[in-house]
Amino acid sequence: MGPVHSIPPAEKSRSQTRGVPRPVSGKQAAALALSAFTTIDSGLAMIAPDGRMLMTNPAFARLFGETSSDDLLARLQLSAWTEAGAATPPLSVNGRTVQIRVKAVPQGYVLNCEDITAESERTARDTRQARTDRLTELGNRLLLRERLQELLAGPSAIRDDCALLTIDLDRFKAVNDTLGRNIGDALLGLVARRIRATATDEDIVVRVYGDQFAIIQQARPQPDSAIQLAKRLRDLLSRPYMLEGQLIDITANVGIAPLAQAVTDVDQAIKNADLALRCAKQDHSVDYFVFESSLDETVKARRALETDLRRALALREFALVYQPQFDLQSCRVTGLEALLRWNSPTRGPVSPMDFIPLAEETGIISPIGEWVLRTACRDAANWPDDITVAVNISAVQFANRALATIVLSALADSGLDPRRLELEITESVMLDARGTALGVLQRLRATGVSVSLDDFGTGYSSLGYLRSFPFDKIKIDQSFVRGAAEDPGNRAIVRAIASLGQNLGMATVAEGVETAEHMERVAADGCTHVQGYLISRPLPAERVRTFLGLSEAAPGPGLSDHFKVA
Ligand code: C2E
Ligand code: MG
Ligand code: MG
Repeated sequence: MGPVHSIPPAEKSRSQTRGVPRPVSGKQAAALALSAFTTIDSGLAMIAPDGRMLMTNPAFARLFGETSSDDLLARLQLSAWTEAGAATPPLSVNGRTVQIRVKAVPQGYVLNCEDITAESERTARDTRQARTDRLTELGNRLLLRERLQELLAGPSAIRDDCALLTIDLDRFKAVNDTLGRNIGDALLGLVARRIRATATDEDIVVRVYGDQFAIIQQARPQPDSAIQLAKRLRDLLSRPYMLEGQLIDITANVGIAPLAQAVTDVDQAIKNADLALRCAKQDHSVDYFVFESSLDETVKARRALETDLRRALALREFALVYQPQFDLQSCRVTGLEALLRWNSPTRGPVSPMDFIPLAEETGIISPIGEWVLRTACRDAANWPDDITVAVNISAVQFANRALATIVLSALADSGLDPRRLELEITESVMLDARGTALGVLQRLRATGVSVSLDDFGTGYSSLGYLRSFPFDKIKIDQSFVRGAAEDPGNRAIVRAIASLGQNLGMATVAEGVETAEHMERVAADGCTHVQGYLISRPLPAERVRTFLGLSEAAPGPGLSDHFKVA
C-alpha cells in the first residue's frame, strides 16, 4: 500500500462544497422538482386549504387507485393531524397499509404517503408471536397482563362482568418426572386444547408457565359464570388422556378472581386468583375456590402453622400415644397403634387431623414420619414379643424411594422383629399409577412386616385394591361402626367387609368401638378385632406396659374378664 497523503487545503474546501447544488434558474428548478415529483416512490399530493385535491403524483395514483379524493380526505380528518405535522394512524387502502404524513404549507397541505404493508405485517406477526405460547399455541403471560390491564383501566360496567380463572394441574409433575418431558409436553398440548374447547371465543386463554393456565372470562355475570366454567373445566380436564399407549389421569384445580372485587391492578388480580387456587388445592373437598378478602387470613394462619410444624420436630414437641387393638377371638390385646401427638407450647395440643394434612402437603410428613417409625419401633421393643405395633404411613411418604430402607433401619436400630411391625396405609397409597408404593410394600412384606388397609370404606373403596396386594388386615372406618345404629346401611357395609376379609384371609378391625353395644354388634358381624375407647383411649408410651399388666406398679386389669364376648 502506498503512503497516505493528506488532502491539500484548497482541495479540501472544494470537496466540502460537493453536496451543495449549483444555483439554477427558476424554470430549471421547476422542471427538476416536477421530475422528482413524478418519479419518486412515495405517493405525494397537494391539497388546497379548502380540501380540494390540487395535484397528485403517479405513485399516489398507484397507491390509492380508484379511491375518491373526498373519501380519502374524510378518512384522514386532515385538521386533526396538520397541527402536529405528524403521521396519521396507518390507513388500510385497497388491501394495502398506507402511512400518511400531513404537512401544512402556505398553499395548503402536502400528503406524503408510504406503502408500509410489509412492515406492518411483520409487526403484527411479531406482536402475535410475542403474545403466543409456543408449546400450546395459546396466549402467554404477556397477553394475559395486557388484556387485564386494558380491562382494569376500562369502564367498570365491562370489568364487573369479567373474572380471572387460574388453573393448575394436579399430578402433572409426576407425569413429567416419570414418563419424560416429551409426554409431559404432549399432555400440556392436550390440556390446552381441552381448555380452549371449554372456553368461548370471547374468553382469553393463556398458558402462564409450566402446568399453569389462565382464562379471562368476559361479558358474563360474575361469579356464577366463572363457577360454571370452573366446573366444566374440572370435568373435562380430569377425563383420562391417552399418550403413546399410556393412560394418564390428572385433575385440575381452579382459582377464581372476579375483577370487580376491589381489584386495583394486574398484580393484585393475579394474586387474588392464585390465592383462591391455593385454597382449592389445599381443600381436597373442592376443586375451585372464589377469591374473597378473608382468604388472605386463612392462608396466613396456615403459613404460621407450617412454620411452627417445621420447628416442632427439632424442639421435640411431638410424642406418640398407643391405642390397643383387641382380638375378639382370643380376648386379648394383640397390638397397639402408634398415634402422633403435637403439644405445641404456643398452641397447646393440636389434633393430628389438623396438622397431618398440612404436613403431607408441605412434605414435612417425611421427617416426621421417620421419627414416628423409629420411636414406635424403639418403644415396642420393650413390649412382650407377641405384641405388635402399628404405624400410620402417609401416601406422601411413599414418594421417598428410601422409605423401605428407613423402615428396615428403624427395625435394625431398635432390634424389633419385623413380624411385630404393621404399616397402616390408606387407599390413596394404592392410587399411585407407577406402582412404586406397591413395590416398596412387597419388599417390606417379604421381610415379615405386615400391612393394614386403614379407614376402609371412606375413600375409593375399590375392591381391586384388595386383590392387588395381600393385606394382612382391613381396618373398617369408625363412621360405619358407630353409624350402624342409625343407619342399617352402615351395618350392612361392616358385615360385607368382615365377610370379604374372612374370604380373603385378612383380619378385620372395627375402629371407633366406644360401647359394649358397638362391640357386640361388630363381633356378631364377623369382625376379628376391635379398637376404640371401650378398650382404651390412646395411652402415653410409659403407660403401655402397665396397661398390658406387665408393670411393676399396679397390676393391669384382666382384660379378658372385662371384654368377654358372648
Ligand atoms: P387413624 O389411623 O384412623 O386413627 C384412629 C383415630 O381414631 C385416632 O385419632 C384415634 O384416637 C381415634 N379413635 C380411636 N378410637 C376411637 C373411638 O372409640 N372414638 C373416637 N371418636 N375416636 C377414636 P387421632 O389420634 O386423632 O388420629 C387421627 C388420624 O391422624 C389417624 O386416623 C391417622 O390417619 C392420622 N395419624 C395419627 N398419627 C399418625 C402418624 O403418625 N402418621 C400419619 N401419617 N398419620 C397419623
Ligand atoms: Mg391408623
Ligand atoms: Mg383409621
